[in-house]
Amino acid sequence: MNHCPTLRDVYIARGRITGLVRRTPFVESPALSKATAGEVFLKLECLQCTGSFKVRGASNRILSLSEAEKKRGVATFSTGNHGKAVAYVAGRLGIPAVVCLSEHVPAYRARLIEEYGARVHVEGHSQDEAESAYYGLVEERRLVSVVPFDDPFVIAGQGTLALEMLEDVPDLDTVLVPLSGGGLLAGVALAIKSVHPGARVVGVSAERSPVMLESLRAGKPVRMDEKDTLADSLLGGIGDDNRYTLEMIRDLVDDHVVVTEEEIEGGMVFAFRNHSLVIEGAAAVGIAALLAGKVDIHGKKAGILLSGSSVEERRYLEVLNRHVNTR
Ligand SMILES: *Cc1c(COP(=O)(O)O)cnc(C)c1O
Repeated sequence: MNHCPTLRDVYIARGRITGLVRRTPFVESPALSKATAGEVFLKLECLQCTGSFKVRGASNRILSLSEAEKKRGVATFSTGNHGKAVAYVAGRLGIPAVVCLSEHVPAYRARLIEEYGARVHVEGHSQDEAESAYYGLVEERRLVSVVPFDDPFVIAGQGTLALEMLEDVPDLDTVLVPLSGGGLLAGVALAIKSVHPGARVVGVSAERSPVMLESLRAGKPVRMDEKDTLADSLLGGIGDDNRYTLEMIRDLVDDHVVVTEEEIEGGMVFAFRNHSLVIEGAAAVGIAALLAGKVDIHGKKAGILLSGSSVEERRYLEVLNRHVNTR
């Protein structure tokens, strides 16, 4: 497949990845419903295998490879969750895998990837540098590249979670989706808009890493300096030769909002207090946007995606500690 995926591809993905991927719960959040005067449902991809939705796209891509390709092995670069997903899927299917990381990625994430059975290759001060090192390695060893977002199979795989949301709550009005490279938002928007054209799809970016948003404004991929953020899974560019996600997001997504570090932190604390859910910063942007009043869902049914749970212990405790007794 080297065209933008269609709804059909999302349905095919769904059948293909069953068995490697969980159907996650989509539960109401009474606290958020109350705070927004709407009805809010949380899609718990933080409970997905490997701790994030990334396993959907990775498994759809890897299961689509030919036998010869599977034999050569797969490789990827990643801020963590995609690497983990590729390592897990390759491990389950008995396919050799190498994961390239930048020096920015926390060490505990590298360890987890190794535990799934993949080899980790650390090189580069940024995601972009890690990416160049990566292409060298892929070429040298003739590995099959499994990219984190700009791939039709990956996009279709991520879209499968939106099918589940619509099955559980068919009359959703609004869906809020964290945004980085845009594989997630493109897949979700594709599925939602195809089934339910009237529903509103909103991308939520971190203020410290709004690369897709700036790229949409510029009409082409732009590069930005990386800043430290609680939403570390949202770091990274969209690729200078972006082929799919920029165009799909431009065509399918209704609105965009941006959340601050403080708002993201508030979202993480909210999930813990009200749902006993541990979520990472990237996964908290939807809650953050609603609590900050940045998306009006008064009288509406909204779905928000809690995209993952990979948060470093020390960082998570710091966040909670700053809010002890502030209720
Ligand atoms: C990768 C990731 C995102 C963003 O997905 P993109 O497809 O890059 O936009 C959001 N949340 C978590 C937890 C992620 O791992």
